[in-house]
Amino acid sequence: MSYVKEIYEKVVAENPAEPEFHQAVKEVLESLEPVIEKNEEEYRQLAILERMVEPERIISFRVPWIDDKGNIQINKGYRIQFSSAIGPYKGGLRFHPTVNQSILKFLGFEQVFKNSLTGLPIGGGKGGANFDPKGKSDREIMSFCQSYMTELYKYIGADQDVPAGDIGVGSREIGFLYGQYKRMTGRYEGVLTGKGLSYGGSQTRRQATGYGLVYILEEMLEAAGKSIENQKIIVSGSGNVAIYAAEKAMEEGGIVIAMSDSAGYIHDPAGIKLDIIKDIKEVKRGRIREYADRVPTASYHEGKGIWSVPCDIALPCATQNELHLADAQMLAANGCYAVAEGANMPATLDATDFFLKSDILFMPGKAANAGGVATSALEMSQNSTRLSWSFDKVDDKLRGIMQDIFEKVADAAKRYNLENNYVAGANIAGFEKVVDAMKAQGLV
Ligand code: NDP
Repeated sequence: MSYVKEIYEKVVAENPAEPEFHQAVKEVLESLEPVIEKNEEEYRQLAILERMVEPERIISFRVPWIDDKGNIQINKGYRIQFSSAIGPYKGGLRFHPTVNQSILKFLGFEQVFKNSLTGLPIGGGKGGANFDPKGKSDREIMSFCQSYMTELYKYIGADQDVPAGDIGVGSREIGFLYGQYKRMTGRYEGVLTGKGLSYGGSQTRRQATGYGLVYILEEMLEAAGKSIENQKIIVSGSGNVAIYAAEKAMEEGGIVIAMSDSAGYIHDPAGIKLDIIKDIKEVKRGRIREYADRVPTASYHEGKGIWSVPCDIALPCATQNELHLADAQMLAANGCYAVAEGANMPATLDATDFFLKSDILFMPGKAANAGGVATSALEMSQNSTRLSWSFDKVDDKLRGIMQDIFEKVADAAKRYNLENNYVAGANIAGFEKVVDAMKAQGLV
């Protein structure tokens, strides 16, 4: 049996009931096959893959807090410290009722390769809780964040593990988490990224994942002789990544015609008015359907049908496994020719395979959404040097990083005769640096 197959079977056997983790490992290992085959003896001897699929540490804890009615609530909190081969653990915190160990392990595993691709010295981690921020008051959110940090602070630090936001964790939550960290430790340090500008945050961090997605999309289009100008674009989700992907896509001349949330999607053939989306989502914390009440050219549709809207480019920016094979086929049938993942693993394995086998340009999340973590690493640099860079300086660096990631991904694919297979390219390029660091540091 091949080394890759052996390790995948071991992962499934030893981690039952973790389907999302199995899926992420399968996608990465299968595309690494040509690299592994070339060095199989050495990698087996050093147990490289066995070490790569086993997190260095999983921290799991109880989060007790009191709601506005005075009732005691208990949630499950986690931090997965997956790999510190190339730097301190780095990766977001997710607060969502679906959070469990499988989802955080898949996210942490992906993060290792993504962070490696950025070219910056950051290892991979992920964390969160099965807490649902929806419908909670600010006081309840603060109470939860303070309790979560009261346990987490023991395991993190500016040179050790630096969490950031993810689904359900935006600037409000990062502020409460940071305040509690400072109170517990007495240290004012760059331990969290995505902070507000008044207390050590970086310009552009809020926009970074979405802007970075469009920057790498433009690289991919250019390499194929195409441009974003006047293209009809669908962006799923209406959270942090989706809003700023839509903003940059419009700035660059694209026309965003559909966005969604977990309840349904809006279609506005006249082009979405982003100030209204921002007002609904960032200010009022409302639902996407309200857009259709406010904009006469728009219609609202319940459910997950966003991929049925004909478009040229699709940017899935909501959550994992939101785009299935039937959706991929529908997109292709309607003329969509490029897909770039703003979310982590939004396309299922069979949908990804379909994109790769069709002539659809496809950029996987670990390359396409790396702009967020890259800008977080820039925030870490500013914090440790006590400097604050301008918006344009950080945005320029972000664009440069995304161009560099595209080149690395395209180059790795080419080296293995897999031209235009950016899934393989991203996995290979990310893997090479991590393996190199692991080999140098011995068996740890
Ligand atoms: P937000 O919480 O800001 O927004 C998430 C959006 O996705 C919301 O519109 C939400 O709708 C929707 N959504 C969430 N869960 C589901 C679901 N189960 N089904 C359908 N829609 C859903 O999160 P982010 O924008 O920060 O993150 C989005 C994705 O991008 C995630 O996969 C995340 O891991 C990834 N990512 C984020 C980065 C960042 O910098 N924030 C960096 C790199 C990747 P509703 O409001 O109805 O729940």
